[in-house]
Amino acid sequence: MLDTARSEITKSGKILGLSDKEIDDLIKVNKEHKFEIKLKSGQTFRAYRVQHNNKRGPYKGGIRFHPDVDLDEVRALATLMSFKTAAVGLPLGGGKGGVSVDPRQLKDGELEELSRAYARYLTPHIGPKKDIPAPDVNTDGRIIDWMVDEYQKITKDTTKASFTGKSLQNGGSLGREAATGRGGVIALQEYLAIKHQADKPLTIAIQGFGNVGSFFATVAHNDGLRWQLVAASDSNAAIYKKDGFGALELAEFKKSGGRFKDYKANSVEIISNEELLALPVDVLVLAALGDAITDKNMKHIKAKIILELANGPVNSLAIDYLHNKKVDIIPDIVANAGGVVVSYFEYVQNCNRQKWSEAEVNSKLRDTIVEATRAIVSTAKQFKIDLKTAAFVNAIKNLR
Ligand code: NAD
Repeated sequence: MLDTARSEITKSGKILGLSDKEIDDLIKVNKEHKFEIKLKSGQTFRAYRVQHNNKRGPYKGGIRFHPDVDLDEVRALATLMSFKTAAVGLPLGGGKGGVSVDPRQLKDGELEELSRAYARYLTPHIGPKKDIPAPDVNTDGRIIDWMVDEYQKITKDTTKASFTGKSLQNGGSLGREAATGRGGVIALQEYLAIKHQADKPLTIAIQGFGNVGSFFATVAHNDGLRWQLVAASDSNAAIYKKDGFGALELAEFKKSGGRFKDYKANSVEIISNEELLALPVDVLVLAALGDAITDKNMKHIKAKIILELANGPVNSLAIDYLHNKKVDIIPDIVANAGGVVVSYFEYVQNCNRQKWSEAEVNSKLRDTIVEATRAIVSTAKQFKIDLKTAAFVNAIKNLR
């Protein structure tokens, strides 16, 4: 993922005529915090916070709790955040954090102990004017609430603007939970409108039906996208139904803890994740992991539009290959920016001690994503480049 991010930055920098030194400066990380967290039980965990670029404002980015977290991954995600906030025009920089831990292995109370220790160590380096972390994979409002409390105890800052993604009763924003999926729907709708395809009924397959994938499906259903959800997957299996699933029904099934390998209904086929990626659908939504499509499986892709809701789900070789095959990839740094956009709205509400309605949040989110999507389509046309490169070109213009 780090290689893909660096290759995109280099490619776009060259299009804008940047020198090697200017490109290196965009890739360079400002600051890396590496530390160990020791729990009372004696277990130790490696922890990170990477602060990539703060030229446009405080660093911003999530905290991931996952056994695969390492410095390279956190660097890549921090870098993508700087370009994401710039691509959608937020006055924020990019950062990311993580702990190499499997939270499911922690006993009662240990998740809170770990979360508080993480926030305590970083307190001197974060805050509303420095770095504003948020949740990411395996972290949520409950964890963020512990972190805010720890930060507040030490600094006496009561704004709660030091973190976003808090619970609603603790200063969180309405609309935050669905924001990434909603932003994906808005980006897709705007892309289709620009291409005069808004009225064309679409078939869609979704890889990864977690928070982002299921909210994408729910919002697409409620907002009247003309579509048929023909396939969806989780980490165990994918399900396929030629004449389409009910989006709300699938979202409910996953919310109640169901696994697709156990999903039973008439005319539903259980298929593999690789088979889902190769389906002849109009739109393939990637909402699971980085590097889902690489040089190994890019030749199997039959969709004409790919919506990147995960971070870096298509690697750089596959991006070039698919662009040559006239597949449009609506890029992560715009398509999945809904989460950070509403995080920014949460921060603004906290700083000004305001509470916006969900309708106001969603309407401002729409404006932001529509503008960023129009801008990438226009830049792609201007330089005759793919949408991903165009998004990085736009971000670099905002970062210089
Ligand atoms: P999540 O954990 O809620 O959901 C991930 C889903 O992907 C789960 O259903 C999981 O079973 C599935 N999955 C895992 N491995 C898979 C595989 N190999 N094949 C198919 N499915 C697989 O996470 P999320 O919050 O929905 O995030 C999804 C992606 O979007 C992540 O890459 C995350 O970094 C990115 N993202 C999330 C947000 C956000 O606001 N949550 C914002 C920007 C980007």
